Amino acid sequence: MRQSSLVVVANRLPVDDSVARDGACEWRRSPGGLVSALHPILQHTPATWVGWAGGTGPAPSLPDIDGVRMHTVALSHEDIRDHYEGFANATLWPLYHDSVEQPAYHRRWWEAYQRVNQRFAEAAAAAAEPGALVWVQDYHLQLVPGMLRALRPDLLIGFFLHVPFPPPELFMQLPRRAELMLGMLGADLVGFQRAQAAHNFAQLATKVLKVPATDRRIAIDDRVVRIGAFPVSINMSEMESLAARPDVLERARQLRSDLGDPQHVILSVDRMDYTKGIEQRLKAYSELIADGHIKVRDTVMVQVAVPSRERVEQYRILRDRVEREVGRINGEFGRVGEPAIHYLNQSFSRADLAALYRVADIMAVTPLRDGMNLVAKEYVAARVDDDGALLLSEFAGAAAEFQQAYLVNPHDLDGLKLTLMHALEASPTDVADRMRSMRGHLRTHDIRAWVHGYLTALDRTGSLAARLTA
Ligand code: UDP
Repeated sequence: MRQSSLVVVANRLPVDDSVARDGACEWRRSPGGLVSALHPILQHTPATWVGWAGGTGPAPSLPDIDGVRMHTVALSHEDIRDHYEGFANATLWPLYHDSVEQPAYHRRWWEAYQRVNQRFAEAAAAAAEPGALVWVQDYHLQLVPGMLRALRPDLLIGFFLHVPFPPPELFMQLPRRAELMLGMLGADLVGFQRAQAAHNFAQLATKVLKVPATDRRIAIDDRVVRIGAFPVSINMSEMESLAARPDVLERARQLRSDLGDPQHVILSVDRMDYTKGIEQRLKAYSELIADGHIKVRDTVMVQVAVPSRERVEQYRILRDRVEREVGRINGEFGRVGEPAIHYLNQSFSRADLAALYRVADIMAVTPLRDGMNLVAKEYVAARVDDDGALLLSEFAGAAAEFQQAYLVNPHDLDGLKLTLMHALEASPTDVADRMRSMRGHLRTHDIRAWVHGYLTALDRTGSLAARLTA
């Protein structure tokens, strides 16, 4: 097998399978954030991406994508049920997002989590050349750094957690908390979205593993593991060019006219997930109508809720609740041809999203907890006209960087209503000043800066990272 000097390990490969016109199955680069993040460096170096291609059969053999080798890991039906839907998305996901839904603990899920992590670690070990840099991504694979170090002590191993890392009081619930900590500490550098997460992790290292830890370093097994905050970002220039394309602008004009040319459009774009605060937001909007503060004809709301994890029970229940609420609000406040909420339970292309961002006078991003929230950053990138107000939850990672957004605590319904009104009534200069300042920040903190910052921190000698990010 060919080996690489850079190996990325993530639950999913950066591909989508699609059926070509002649009926054959073909693989396309999928437009995920991590793919476009890594794209610039992956082009400079022989790199391999280890991940699952979707589906349950034997691992398909995939062609290189943009020069990157695709190393597929096979998952069975049971693996997906117990590792992906179970331990990753019904135990860790809710626990890491402040337990806004009750995490479920099942011993069978833990066994699957270990088994699948071991398979990924073995695949990464096989794909990495001597002394290679291996970068493991996210909560599905927290045991991989430790397992990989046992197999290949010669490697430089990075781990980055895209979701929040919870405070000790919550993490302590986990039946397998010590093993999960040790798994992550197999890395040379553990990266988080926010400084608070690194702090939580350090406190837990002291508490659970009884090892010396600060917010920057943890000493374990004669090694020092560095930890820190590396807030992930987006490809700003790509979104800017998309948002300025004539066909996207035309689409935006059309959308506004289809919405009845209202004074204000409020937009939200989320996966249908209980962490996103969709219900609280709908309630705030409907109360503002009921209170007479806004009129449906003047101020419409567009809620995109992309179908997500529909085999997990909590997600099915959420969808039912959201749809009932949208129905109630439209039933009560809409008129023929004039709904209050335009609800779209479907996924959109990047160009369609860019057009939606250009239409949105207010972008309401109000998750109860979110690792980063890339939609907030995409909206700022798309507003090349320096217009548009970002209503942003304090509990999204993005809030640490976008202090000029209209910040809000989404649990506080009155506060949410007040801040939404504040954003709706803000003067054009206030809106533009805030947007300009956020755009200035994003320009110097885009995805390339994230990748460069993380890899140079990981590779203290600098030689490998310099070569990779040249
Ligand atoms: N997205 C998309 N099509 C859609 C809705 C969202 O491609 O119809 C993308 C969006 O552009 C963003 C990502 O999905 O890059 C969502 O990332 P975010 O961090 O906001 O939330 P997550 O889904 O990771 O919790």
